[in-house]
Amino acid sequence: MGINIENFERIKKDLESSNATLVAVSKTKPVSDIQDLYNLGQRDFGENYVQELTEKQPLLPADIRWHFIGHLQTNKVKYIAPFVYLIHGVDSEKLLREIEKQGARLGRKIKVLLQVHIASEETKFGFDASEINQLLQPEVLSKFSHVELAGFMGMASFTVNQEQVEQEFALLKTLFDTYSHMDLPQNKISILSMGMSNDYMLALKQGSNMVRIGSLLFGARDKG
Ligand SMILES: *Cc1c(COP(=O)(O)O)cnc(C)c1O
Repeated sequence: MGINIENFERIKKDLESSNATLVAVSKTKPVSDIQDLYNLGQRDFGENYVQELTEKQPLLPADIRWHFIGHLQTNKVKYIAPFVYLIHGVDSEKLLREIEKQGARLGRKIKVLLQVHIASEETKFGFDASEINQLLQPEVLSKFSHVELAGFMGMASFTVNQEQVEQEFALLKTLFDTYSHMDLPQNKISILSMGMSNDYMLALKQGSNMVRIGSLLFGARDKG
């Protein structure tokens, strides 16, 4: 039980050369574990469930950057909008419109990543490349002045086939390269969130600059 300090130090070393950000995924884990990792210098934490996040957030230091990495329902955006640092899993224009609405209400610009469907599995949420292209047109972007589109997030297939995982990450990196070199009005595509406990080294090799790691830091989960 508790946090794995050895893994934490090793992961930080692995991330150094890519200058990648570690998001510690603390879903289902107690606030005491989050506080322990915070005390070792970690500031970026990721949660999957709105209710769990809104319960934990007031109990922990105010300078934590909270990442929402789960599937976000439109009617729940309002609960995390006041404090969330980055929403990773934006997978529909409807959700983007709701985030815009909440950002306008609060007078803040909410940073988001567009989730891109790269896995072969049907169950994973996300846009495909042509939908991303439609969304990143200047006339569409101009409707979202309270949203900052900061990059892309993707999840590879759940498979032991490393070659397939690498190919899926490479696909997302290609998309990222296209848009990060583009001059988009009011937005800068600069974050590529890919890689979890079991595939983060492959993700880094393919150009990830943000990894979301849970079980290596906090131990296995009973659920989620
Ligand atoms: C749970 C989760 C993670 C972390 O998974 P681990 O395998 O525990 O590292 C990363 N990203 C998303 C979207 C998740 O839901």
